[in-house]
Amino acid sequence: MKVLSVSSEVFPLIKTGGLADVAGALPIALKRYGVETKTLMPGYPAVMKAIRDPVVRLQFDDLLGEPATVLEVQHEGLDILVLDAPAYYDRPGGPYLDQTGKDYTDNWRRFAALSLAGAEIAAGLMPDWRPDLVHAHDWQAALTPVYMRYYPTPELPSVLTVHNIAFQGQFGAEVFPGLRLPPHAFSTESIEYYGHLGYLKGGLQTAWAITTVSPSYADEILTPEFGMGLEGVIASRRDALHGIVNGIDADIWNPATDPVVHTHYGPTTLKNREENRKSIAEFFRLHDDGAPIFCIISRLTWQKGMDLIAATADEIVALGGKLAILGSGDPALEGSLLAAAARHPGRIGISIGYNEPMSHLMQAGCDAIIIPSRFEPCGLTQLYGLRYGCVPIVARTGGLNDTVIDANHAAIAAKAATGIQFSPVTAEGMLQAIRRAMTLYADQKVWTQLQKQGMKSDVSWEKSAERYAALYSSLAPKGK
Ligand code: ADP
Repeated sequence: MKVLSVSSEVFPLIKTGGLADVAGALPIALKRYGVETKTLMPGYPAVMKAIRDPVVRLQFDDLLGEPATVLEVQHEGLDILVLDAPAYYDRPGGPYLDQTGKDYTDNWRRFAALSLAGAEIAAGLMPDWRPDLVHAHDWQAALTPVYMRYYPTPELPSVLTVHNIAFQGQFGAEVFPGLRLPPHAFSTESIEYYGHLGYLKGGLQTAWAITTVSPSYADEILTPEFGMGLEGVIASRRDALHGIVNGIDADIWNPATDPVVHTHYGPTTLKNREENRKSIAEFFRLHDDGAPIFCIISRLTWQKGMDLIAATADEIVALGGKLAILGSGDPALEGSLLAAAARHPGRIGISIGYNEPMSHLMQAGCDAIIIPSRFEPCGLTQLYGLRYGCVPIVARTGGLNDTVIDANHAAIAAKAATGIQFSPVTAEGMLQAIRRAMTLYADQKVWTQLQKQGMKSDVSWEKSAERYAALYSSLAPKGK
């Protein structure tokens, strides 16, 4: 089966979050199920710099007003179609924000162009290759199934994956003519959303199937608390909704071979983590005193519960814990976490910024990772934690709920526990979990068992890729 994946980020070419990891790993995991994927993505400067020997596959004189070229490249096992459109993507800021941290004012056009290019390829415009199915990711690609709906040729099956329903791509109705969709696309059955435009909403209405990245999140987004206004639309498409948990790339994330990890280890050589722990203590200037190091690797935002960390930092230190924090995001939260670190030298260390190698080393050296998200569609850092013996302490929500087995008495006795869950997601709920972690840590036999059990968890893509392959086949039976 031939699949066109459309995504605004793909690891290792460009990444701001979990979407990139998924878009980069799923095509590789699907190969064994006979699925051949080409991934269409924007030609941001970092992407154009990284690619080698591109082949021109398609040219647009006027892709929503600007010229664009589709280049095909092979990159680390991925077959990538780069949408090279300098007017849209050749900018010094990030994929979505300019250098001052503001959304680009023409994001509506930049990602409509990406989606339209996807729909054109779906319609067979690229010589010698036409997909059997299109898989679009998040709001940035969500207009792909919308454009496909109004294309004159018969419509191909489509899947839309919602990685986070909080990001919906809403724009004013005044940009609608610029999308070059037929006038009747401005309707509640399509992209109209309370008088505005909703890209994700349009995709949810038109995609043949909708997936989200864990079964719990699939249930949650049917409720007003988590649906962010789209719960009604999701409910109307309930029969087309599937929750498939993300996996991780187990080759890239492997503590036995990871090149940035100083001392490699496996479940029977956990003692080797000690050297990595020392490197972390050095980097974050933490006392090396045998107290557990809890880490945080996260966007510093309200969704991720980072205000709870700031509010409880003093208590965590008072309990005897140490914190190593890596992240960036909301300036106010960065400020309060920096202030906490300044109050507790040697007990709290923080590095503001994005540091992929350090994120690996932290999983390999810290004792536990705290993930107090208020909502979490899937979450990847707990999966990396499981794989690296860095015990996840997680809010009981979404994918965190589906992937971590709480260390209650029964689960410990059955040797099934892999981490700690807490609820409600409040400062007190989280502190209670940290107290439990401190008690479990004091009994090294129990703690080691938790680490080993976590490392045994199946966090690979295998089962999930099989589910995606089955979903594709059910939608495009002739593709096989
Ligand atoms: P989200 O996509 O909502 O940010 P996920 O847990 O799904 O959250 O994925 C986050 C990804 O980004 C993980 O791979 C995590 O290791 C990585 N990450 C987050 N913050 C940083 C950072 N400051 N430095 C390096 N990697 C980070």
